Amino acid sequence: MERACVELMYHPDLIRHPDNCPALVLNADYTPLSYYPLSLWPWQTAIKAVFLDRVDIVEHYDREIHSPTCRMRIPSVIALRQYVKPHEHPAFTRFNLFLRDHFECQYCGSPRDLTFDHVVPRSQGGRTTWENVSTACAPCNLRKGGRTPKQAGMALTQAPHKPTSWQLQDSGRKFPPNYLHDSWRDWLYWDAELES
Ligand SMILES: [Zn+2]
Repeated sequence: MERACVELMYHPDLIRHPDNCPALVLNADYTPLSYYPLSLWPWQTAIKAVFLDRVDIVEHYDREIHSPTCRMRIPSVIALRQYVKPHEHPAFTRFNLFLRDHFECQYCGSPRDLTFDHVVPRSQGGRTTWENVSTACAPCNLRKGGRTPKQAGMALTQAPHKPTSWQLQDSGRKFPPNYLHDSWRDWLYWDAELES
């Protein structure tokens, strides 16, 4: 299955509608295809993939669907038969940048009122790249103004860098969605002990 096709099937709204029986989608190595957003397919898509032999069923819901010729429990966890290789580097987007920085100001650690800071200011030739943009709260951003961290006497928690997809996925594990079906938990490693 093409990666683009897989991505189109992500549907973050599903998390808010557990009645829709979404299926958690694992890669062929039985790790979630994506943590953030969590890879979920509508049950219709999951069942279609089962009949196309593209996935194996790992866990079920109690709910069944019926057709004139068969009955089947709705899959709650499925695994792709063919491994989908993630892109090495994720897109440079606002969301991914916040995710890289764990939704915290890189100067003071505040999770509130977040915006973006050009570490080397644009007025001094700083560019809008992974390597020069950090998450900052509005007060820190204002205080720093058109200065470099050194000029402003402000230290960054971490130097801005281009993350790998794996790093962003890892970061995404720390922000689980509000709803998790019981059968998904074994496949999601959000437990603190596993983060160390
Ligand atoms: Zn701050």
